[in-house]
Formats: sequence, C-alpha cells, structure tokens
Amino acid sequence: MQNLKDSSLFRSQAFLDGQWRDADDKTRFSVSNPATGELLGEVPRMGGAETVRAVDAANAALPAWRSLLARERAAILQRWYHLILANADDLARMMTLEQGKPLIEAKGEVVYAASFIEWFAEEAKRLYGDTLPTTGVDRRLMVIRQPIGVCAAITPWNFPAAMITRKVAPALAAGCTVVVKPAEQTPFTALALAELAQQAGFPTGVFNVLTGDPVAIGGVLTGSPIVRKLSFTGSTEIGRLLMAQCAPTIKKLSLELGGNAPFIVFDDADIDAAVAGALVSKYRNAGQTCVCANRLLVQDSVYDEFAAKLAEAVKTFSIGNGLEAGVNVGPLIDDDAVLKVEAHVADALAKGGRVLVGGKRHAAGKLFYEPTVLVNVTPDMRVAREETFGPVAPLFRFKTEDEAIQMANDTEFGLAAYFFARDVGRVFRVGEALEYGMVGINTGIISNEVSPFGGIKQSGVGREGSRYGIDEYLEMKYLCIGGI
Ligand code: ADP
Repeated sequence: MQNLKDSSLFRSQAFLDGQWRDADDKTRFSVSNPATGELLGEVPRMGGAETVRAVDAANAALPAWRSLLARERAAILQRWYHLILANADDLARMMTLEQGKPLIEAKGEVVYAASFIEWFAEEAKRLYGDTLPTTGVDRRLMVIRQPIGVCAAITPWNFPAAMITRKVAPALAAGCTVVVKPAEQTPFTALALAELAQQAGFPTGVFNVLTGDPVAIGGVLTGSPIVRKLSFTGSTEIGRLLMAQCAPTIKKLSLELGGNAPFIVFDDADIDAAVAGALVSKYRNAGQTCVCANRLLVQDSVYDEFAAKLAEAVKTFSIGNGLEAGVNVGPLIDDDAVLKVEAHVADALAKGGRVLVGGKRHAAGKLFYEPTVLVNVTPDMRVAREETFGPVAPLFRFKTEDEAIQMANDTEFGLAAYFFARDVGRVFRVGEALEYGMVGINTGIISNEVSPFGGIKQSGVGREGSRYGIDEYLEMKYLCIGGI
C-alpha cells in the first residue's frame, strides 16, 4: 500500500490466536480502492474451520484475561489507544484507500475510534456492584457484574475502525475475549488495528480478526455455544438473519441496523444553522452512514428558502478522490450502491420530484455520484421509505408540528432523528415525541464516546458507547448469602 510511514501496519494475513495466518486452503480475496478501481491487496478467505479455532483460542484466553485486575486490562487498552493515535495518519490513509471517505473524515474517524478505547479503559475500573436491603436477618444480598465470556463482532465497511473499537473496547475492558469479522471491503484497517493491539500487548487469543466468507464465519460465530454474545452493525436484513441464527443458543445480542433518519426544519429554526446541520448530517461519508439524514422534512413557510440555501451550499462541494486535498465528497462503496441511488432518484423524478442540484453520476469516476438536492418530494416515493445510503437530500413539505411528527415516525426504523427549532416548548414536545433512539436538536452531528448510540424498532437492540455500553458485555449475578 502506497506511502505509509510504517509499512508494518499493512497486514495481508488474518490475526488468529496471536499469529498472522493464511486460510487453511490458502485462498484469498482482493480489496480495491473505490475511488480508482485500483487493486490494494489481498487477504485470506477464511471459513468455518478457522473460525472454530479462533473461538477456541478466545475461549482458552478467557480465564486469564478476565482474572486480571481492571487496571491491568485498562493499561493495555490505554497503550492500544495511544498507539492508534500515534499512527493516525497511516490508519486514515489506509481507510481512505479502501473505503473512499475524504482523508479529513478518515482522520476524524481514527480519533473517534480511539476515543472508545480510552473511554472503556476508564470505565473498566468502575464496574460497581450493589448490596441490597436484606429480606432476613440471617442473609445478605449482593449483585456483582461479570464478563459475559467469548464475544463475536461483525462489522460494516462504512466506519472501518470505529465500528470495531466501539464493540471490542467495552468487551475487552469488561474482561471478555473477542473474535471480529470485518467487512470484506475494508479488512486492512481492521488488520492494522490488530497489529497495534499486538504491539499494545494483549495476551494471545484475547483479540482475533478473521477475514473471509461472511456466511461461513458468521455461521460458526452465531451457532457456537461458546460464543455468548454477538454484536453486529450492518443492514436490517442481515441483522434479522443473524438474530435468528443466534436463537438456538440464546445468545445475547447487540444490533445496530438500518435507519431512515428524518431531519425536520421548523419555521422558527435558524435556517442557516439548519443548512449547515443538513450538510454534515446528509453528505458526510457521501451519505453512507446509518445516522445520515434520509428525509428532510421542511415546514411550508421556510421550504423555498431552505431548499435554495441548501442547493447553493451543495454546489460548493468538491468531489473526488478522498486523498486529494480539499475533497469533501468521495466515491460510493460499490456498483450496487450507485445503482440504488440512481434508482431512488429516477423513481422520485418519475413521480413528480425535481432536481435542484446534482441528480446524476459524477465525472470523477465510476462510483461517484453528484451531491443532490430533490424538491417536490412526496411520501409515495422510494426515498420516503428506504435508506438511500448516498448523497441525495429529498425535501418533503409539511404544514403543522403534528404532521411533521407523524411523517417522521411513519417508518419501521428508529435510529437517529434531527430537528431544528428555537421554541423551547417545541424542542421538548418534538424531542419526546420522536420514536428514535437518538435525537439531534439544532445539530447534525450526535455521535461521541460518552453518549449511548443505538436504535429502537427495526433499527436494532442495545447501545454502544457511554457508561451504558459496557453493560452489553456483562452479566449481572445475584448472590444470596445465608446462614449469617
Ligand atoms: P452492507 O449491505 O452495508 O454491506 P451487510 O449487513 O451486508 O451490510 O454487511 C455488514 C457485515 O455483515 C459485513 O461484515 C458483512 O460481511 C457481514 N455479513 C453479510 N452477510 C452475512 C451473513 N450471511 N452472515 C454473517 N455476516 C454477514
């Protein structure tokens, strides 16, 4: 891989039981740069047999790892955190090469990814239990919290580093061991994190990263009775499948699935602030985040002003290879992603929508799509119901606050929602009425390590980050001590 300061971060083998390994049958698959189509390298195509070994390794490592003092685990996590920050430039470069996001966003993701490791290293030392008022003079009642055991993480390509650390850091901090399967499109960032974890000094088998066949690896991770917990981020369709696969062994699950985020602009909003919020919420990562604004609902009296200002701002975007200075919108991840965006725009136009800016592929390359603003958008269009996952902002019109809430909640998803308003009563009313796990009010950016990230309805179960996130990797145990 080109121009890394430390080429040892570029690993083309999987990390299993403390060793860099090929697939048993030596097969590999290739990874390419979505901006150029250029081949970046190959990684092992592992399957079920290697996954069984990784799970066994994680299980063998568990007793010693969970027996360490919390501050001993925290010290290793802190070393990993500092190593990631020290290598942030290389990690960001690798991420832009394999994922496409602009370098400045990739660097931001590395810092964001590292923040979960620091946060959970600190939280590890604060896993308090409880004593309960007794029900009899001869007994004492206690609650302790213990690591759940071997955990699996299956992660997506849109945040190649942060989706791993957000799962792995709380698991390791709690005293669990982990097997990670990163997305096929972005294994190099994951393997670089494993290299840095090895340098940080995690004992053999505590942290494993397998690249390969999702169905075979996922089948073992979900089916194994040794794996006590699965954390998945990805599509609702695959989340539903994995949930079913986990049912026979009654695994604990965290699922971060699709969204259909509404972004509401009320008539009392600061319109310029709403435009700025929409730009970051909609076009970050070329619209490929599960919390990206998917539907912009704008009140009738400010609709035209908001649409015009948004379109003007979108025209200033620089589209291109994320490695180039000044670029703020990169390519989409693959052909299917571009086809979906095209289909959504075509459907909207066929049903009466109109393009204010964009609306077609961009000349920068095969996977580039122009940042787009659509007006006259109505609820019968695909953009109303499906996650576009691309740089398209469809603007719906509404008249009253009740209508906006009804439109916003009219979806099976419930991950993130946003609204812009200044009336304090409205801020509380709407904030409480939105059926979402996260609500951004007068801001388009909500994710950080201190806050609980997660959805309701078919957007998933569980929360990541924050003081609540570590509970996903702990079991509560009640001790009833009699005969006192
Ligand atoms: P996307 O459509 O955004 O790629 P997916 O849900 O397909 O989202 O992928 C998210 C993660 O789930 C990736 O790591 C992918 O390899 C993995 N995955 C996809 N299909 C399966 C499967 N059948 N079993 C286990 N993991 C899978």
